[in-house]
Amino acid sequence: LTVLGIESSCDDTGAALVRHVPGQPGDVLANVVAGQTDLHAAFGGVVPEIAARAHAEKLDLVVEEALARSGLTLRDLDAIAVTAGPGLIGGVLSGVMLAKGLCAATGLPLVGVNHLAGHALTPRLTDGLTFPYLMLLVSGGHCQFLRVDGPEAFTRLGGTIDDAPGEAFDKTAKLLGLPQPGGPSVEAEAKQGDPKRFAFPRPLLDRPGCDLSFSGLKTALMRARDALVADKGGLTRQDRADLCAGFQAAVADTLAEKARRALALCPDITAFAVAGGVAANATLRSRLTQVAGNIPFIAPPLALCTDNAAMIAWAGIERFRAGHTDDMTLSARPRWPLDTAAPALIGSGK
Ligand code: ATP
Ligand code: FE
Repeated sequence: LTVLGIESSCDDTGAALVRHVPGQPGDVLANVVAGQTDLHAAFGGVVPEIAARAHAEKLDLVVEEALARSGLTLRDLDAIAVTAGPGLIGGVLSGVMLAKGLCAATGLPLVGVNHLAGHALTPRLTDGLTFPYLMLLVSGGHCQFLRVDGPEAFTRLGGTIDDAPGEAFDKTAKLLGLPQPGGPSVEAEAKQGDPKRFAFPRPLLDRPGCDLSFSGLKTALMRARDALVADKGGLTRQDRADLCAGFQAAVADTLAEKARRALALCPDITAFAVAGGVAANATLRSRLTQVAGNIPFIAPPLALCTDNAAMIAWAGIERFRAGHTDDMTLSARPRWPLDTAAPALIGSGK
């Protein structure tokens, strides 16, 4: 099977071609991502209307580029998969409309994909994982533990009750005057820092279960920074590094402890996998590897951990193989929890 995937749910416009022969890992023939970071930089966050326009302007070019890089034409495809939610609705709509247009013109089957299912199934594309496995999705917008039993069988074991860790990394960088995205710059500073100098909270560790919270950590960091500024009139290089190291250690500790609990809930799994931009963090990775113990710990390459269309093409392949296709009534959904499998139909009121 060869499938074109289209992704436009946040601030990355993506198109990818993935081929799969049963019994082998997936083959990413092309994976094109056009980011929009520069367009949103002045606003301190993603502006939905700007994102939607940028997707509408770039999607067809990105699809052309992916086809050109793979050396394929639309005639070589078996289906077209598109993110149908969850995400910023204007962007999702742009992608769904383009996919419908291409399917109408070519007669190819249309497959609507849940963006989170794309992230959660990525380790099957990259490492051929078999079900069931445990997945930790940690990104700028999400943080959840999922038990994955099949291409459409996800159980949420817990997740953040407020901010996502990536968002907390980005806010930390902002508070300390470090460049965006915050994750890589906080991680770089933390290398020179002492993680023990500031005792940041490990939220919700006293509560049972796998839920997480990161907003209190952000407040604690702000207080520590303000106290230093009030005391000495500013931050030294070392202060900044120590704050970053303390913050990063608190995030890694919290995620590691909750991962330990999630693993205990799933004694029968084949692997523990991560996805999402925060999965790039080396301190976090090494803590999670430790916690996994004898269970294989899988972290796909970063380009497939952050938002991309290869994971959408792959999830489309899985869904198509399971016998699911959509028709022109496929609608874009701003919210689409993973435990409801089928995309909503127009007029169903969901
Ligand atoms: P979502 O996919 O949930 O809608 P998103 O598009 O913001 O959200 P990703 O692209 O998966 O998420 O990841 C981006 C986030 O990952 C940013 O918040 C960024 O700071 C964080 N990040 C990237 N590299 C690192 C790192 N080395 N350490 C920690 N965080 C990181
Ligand atoms: Fe994502």
